[in-house]
Amino acid sequence: MPALIMYPGIIYGPVRSRRLGLSLGVNLLPVGRKICSFNCVYCECGDTTELIDQARDEQGRPTTFPTIAAVQQAIEHALHRYPNLDTITFAGHGEPTLHPRFPEIVQTVRDMRDRIQPYARVGVLSSAALLTRPRPRVGIDLCDLRMMKLDAGDEATFEAIDRPAANIRLETIIAELSRMPNIIIQTCLVDSDRVNNVRGEPWEALVNAIDRIRPDLIQLYAVDRPTPEPWARKVPWDVVQSRADELQARTGVLAEPFA
Ligand code: SF4
Repeated sequence: MPALIMYPGIIYGPVRSRRLGLSLGVNLLPVGRKICSFNCVYCECGDTTELIDQARDEQGRPTTFPTIAAVQQAIEHALHRYPNLDTITFAGHGEPTLHPRFPEIVQTVRDMRDRIQPYARVGVLSSAALLTRPRPRVGIDLCDLRMMKLDAGDEATFEAIDRPAANIRLETIIAELSRMPNIIIQTCLVDSDRVNNVRGEPWEALVNAIDRIRPDLIQLYAVDRPTPEPWARKVPWDVVQSRADELQARTGVLAEPFA
C-alpha cells in the first residue's frame, strides 16, 4: 500500500490553495484512525478504519476524539503563530462532523476567530452524509464556507464510488443539499472499467443532481495521489476541464476544474 495521508494531530498546514487562500487545516479525528461515513475508492487517507454514520459517545461515554479544550488550545496557538490566515478549515483524515461536539467546536473557533483573526473564514469539508442529523447540521450551518461532497447522481454509482455506511442514501443527501443556501459542491471524477461518473448514465444523473441542488459553485477535480484502489486511476486534466464546461453550460451553475 502506498503512503497515504494521516495527520499526526489537530492542526496541519497552513497550505495555500486557489479557493481557500492560506488555509489552516483542522483534524478532529483521533490520531491513527480514519473515521468516516464513507470509504471512497479514491480517498487519499486510505481505507476507512471505522465506517460509521453517527458518533456514539454523546452520553458521556469515553471518547477518543480530541476534547474541546484540546482543539481550542491547538487552534488558539496556531492563530497566533500564523497571523494572516484566510480560512480555518475543518477536514482531516475522515468526516469532521462525526465529532460528537462538532457544533460547540465550530462556535468556539468562531469566537476565537472573531477575537484574534476576524477576517479569516471558518470552513468545512464534509461528505454531506450527515445533513439530516441535528448536531452535524448545526455545526455545518455555523460555518462560513460549506464545501459538500457529491460524487454521483444515482444510488448505484454512489454506492460504488463512496461506499457509504449503512442507512445513508444518496436521495436524502441530494434533497438536503437542494435546501441549503450558499454551498459549494466538490466532485471527484472517477473513471475505470468498474465504475465511472464522467460518462453515460452516471454523468447524466450527476448533471441532473447539480441542476436540482443549484449550489453557488461546483468544483470538479481528479485524484492526484495514491489511492486505496489502484484501479481508481487519475482522470486526465482535459477531461476535468471539459466536464466543468459542459456542466456549467447545461445547468447554469458556475463550475470550475481545480487541481
Ligand atoms: S468522505 Fe472524504 S475522508 Fe471520507 S472516505 Fe471519502 S474522501 Fe475519504
